Amino acid sequence: MYQAPRGTSDILPPEQKYWSYIRHTASSICQLYGYQRIDTPTFEDARLFVRSIGESTDIVEKEMYSFEDKGGDPITLRPEGTAPVCRAYVEHGMHNLPQPVRLYYMASIFRYERPQAGRYREHHQFGVEALGAADPALDAEVIDMAWQLYVNLGLKGIALSLNSIGCSNCRPRYLEVLKSYYTQHKESLCPDCKRRLGKNTLRLLDCKTPSCFALNEQAPRSMDYLCQECADHFNQLRNYLNLLNLPFSLSHRLVRGLDYYTRTVFEIAPEGETGAQVAIGGGGRYDDLIEQLGGKPTPAVGFATGIERLVLNLKKQDVVVPALFPLTVFIAHLGQEARDEAMKLTSHLRKSGISTIASLSDKSLKAQLKQANVSGARYSIIIGEDEVKSRTVTLRNMAKGEQQTVPIDKLAEALR
Ligand code: AMP
Repeated sequence: MYQAPRGTSDILPPEQKYWSYIRHTASSICQLYGYQRIDTPTFEDARLFVRSIGESTDIVEKEMYSFEDKGGDPITLRPEGTAPVCRAYVEHGMHNLPQPVRLYYMASIFRYERPQAGRYREHHQFGVEALGAADPALDAEVIDMAWQLYVNLGLKGIALSLNSIGCSNCRPRYLEVLKSYYTQHKESLCPDCKRRLGKNTLRLLDCKTPSCFALNEQAPRSMDYLCQECADHFNQLRNYLNLLNLPFSLSHRLVRGLDYYTRTVFEIAPEGETGAQVAIGGGGRYDDLIEQLGGKPTPAVGFATGIERLVLNLKKQDVVVPALFPLTVFIAHLGQEARDEAMKLTSHLRKSGISTIASLSDKSLKAQLKQANVSGARYSIIIGEDEVKSRTVTLRNMAKGEQQTVPIDKLAEALR
């Protein structure tokens, strides 16, 4: 028996209503905020991700699906959505458009992770990127969008954590202080953090191993080492969030897993939940990335949210989501002539915009009506020999159990 590869899943029809609800809510928000959709390829030049995400990040070190294609080119399945959008921004000269350029995407993301609840090897993200402006009002806009998405979906009890990790001017000094702090406590670090120390010191801050966690609480805070410009940016952002009535808490351990972030970083998670896979979304500013990828210096900010985690949280909170395309009509028939009539009628109703399926069996009426029930159709139509002769059908309202006789040529109208 073949099975879906470990860490991947089939999204079966009963699940689809959640996906459709999330996609629809997300694209409505994008429309309200003036963001336009972009789709980039599922795979890119591997070097794009190594360059942007950073060589000593978990994603690049251990999680990328990379291979050489038959032409010998290095290829990686998209492990995140921001770098491809930046690549497209540069490639298509979007700096010539009015700035900022506001874009959104919905895409599958591939990471070779240890699968568990809320963590998969293929997952899906909805993300937005606002490129070409350094104004903290844009950070506030993007955070507000994420927040409104969760509110509009009906999620309750979510919490926003915020930090600033500085820029290429002030971060080196902070990293030195941080490195020296952890070097003093090297013996208490977990093996992973010992290895990361010096290579990716920032990441030590969000290690969840209990011994590291205690150390991290006492670690020097990036917020205390910001240069004047970064401090001003952070203060203004906090003012804007207050203006928008968005509650947030400062979290000095929040650093995120990708190297390209500068200044603002944020994450949104269900209140009071901790652990490695509770965040439903996160993002931040990445002012140097586009330049690193060969573009002009272009400040930018974005966020992404995992759709699987949203589905998990919607279910956990018993949020009722609209049903998808309920079937309107199920046609049951008795006898060959009725069967032919059912076939013509099915086609006629579908052309009239009424969703219809007809029974494929010649079983008893009782058996076919059972099928009608299971199909979830709002109406069943019964055609027997008498009905064929009189050019009528029996129309049954499944919820009310009431039925009436309707002429075939008036049926579409009656159903509408
Ligand atoms: P990141 O790109 O790591 O910032 O992730 C953005 C969001 O995607 C997270 O907040 C999660 O909701 C979701 N996410 C990240 N990795 C996974 C994964 N392996 N499986 C499922 N969802 C994920």
